[in-house]
Amino acid sequence: MSVEPASLRDGFPLLAATPELHYLDSAATSQMHCLALDAVVRHETTRRANVSRGTYRLAEAADLAYEQARQTAARFLNASSADEVIFTSGATASLNLVAHAFGATLGRGDRVVISVAEHHSNFVPWQMLRERTGVELALIPVTAAGQLDLARLPELIDGRCRLVAVTQCSNVTGAWTDVATVVAAARKVGARVLLDGAQAVQHGPQDVRAMGVDFYAFSGHKCFGPGGVGVLWGRGELLAAMPPFLGGGGMIAAVTAEETTWAAPPQRFEAGTPPIAQAVGLAAALDWMMNLDWPQIHAGEARLCERLIEGLRRIPGLRLLGPEASARRAPIVSFEIAGLHPHDICQVLDARQLALRGGHHCAQPLLAALGAEACTRASIALYNDEADIAALLDGLGFVLRELA
Ligand code: PLP
Repeated sequence: MSVEPASLRDGFPLLAATPELHYLDSAATSQMHCLALDAVVRHETTRRANVSRGTYRLAEAADLAYEQARQTAARFLNASSADEVIFTSGATASLNLVAHAFGATLGRGDRVVISVAEHHSNFVPWQMLRERTGVELALIPVTAAGQLDLARLPELIDGRCRLVAVTQCSNVTGAWTDVATVVAAARKVGARVLLDGAQAVQHGPQDVRAMGVDFYAFSGHKCFGPGGVGVLWGRGELLAAMPPFLGGGGMIAAVTAEETTWAAPPQRFEAGTPPIAQAVGLAAALDWMMNLDWPQIHAGEARLCERLIEGLRRIPGLRLLGPEASARRAPIVSFEIAGLHPHDICQVLDARQLALRGGHHCAQPLLAALGAEACTRASIALYNDEADIAALLDGLGFVLRELA
């Protein structure tokens, strides 16, 4: 099926209702597609019941919808089984789940390798694990352009390394990680690989088996679905060997006064009532995405990204963070303007209907490595067009006149 990127905006109720809005903050949260919204409303108005508990027909309908959502997520990731898909509240919860449950199998003498480019969600849980268990935490540095310095892998990913946990795509610079090289280095020493796919999923379906990773985490709100839901995918044999993270209803085989035995995955990792309608909405978004013409969308996003970078280069006192336009990058562009705070820049842009994010983007170690405290970020998604880029470049001219 072939879809013109420009027309995609019409499928997003918020954007359709605000034609004057230039939404350039999809790396924080993408807009929600109408099919996802409809699926949530339909579920809540026709099938609302708890799952894995009821024996009445309404509850069975809820069960079916929830398990079908799991199958859709498995297809989106090309997982070998829906049982490898765990619904969580988002990427942060997915990453913490691995840090606790896989982390429980690690101890002193083991090493976890992350990178300087990680979002705090894939940074802090590992520091917390280090505090709990004494594992060693090692960092892959970044190059001046914010890409992982892969030359350092052999010394960091050695025989002590049990897990490499890295982002697939930086939420600040848009740099894609060379996953194949990371996976090859990890395989050499028998280490596992966790990929933080939070920024990758809005750019198309993923293939966890082709990538050769062991765990994959993402959030629904960054791929045109609802908030409050995310996915952790893990290889079946690894999940089966992991203890639960949270205890509660739904994750047990049996509970006695003395002890509890665990359900098999994925239920073992879904304690309590899961985000049911949100999972159903997410599945609708993923289904929609699986029918899009991604090569065409990527070409459109890359064109806008290049146009933006070209325009930004012409602004005096502006420093771009991250790789060249020609590099393998997602359409996420961050910059500093000498003497101007990103919050002020974003506020002035907001008055011109431009929604951008300014701050440290929950990536303070990366910003420190790039020599910045804060930056302004424009992130482009499939519903953006030339008018958004022109408005931003125009808006920045206005910012300079107003603030500089
Ligand atoms: N990882 C990356 C790369 C992100 O960009 C984000 C959010 O911006 C997260 C993880 C955390 O996602 P969430 O806040 O949806 O849990």
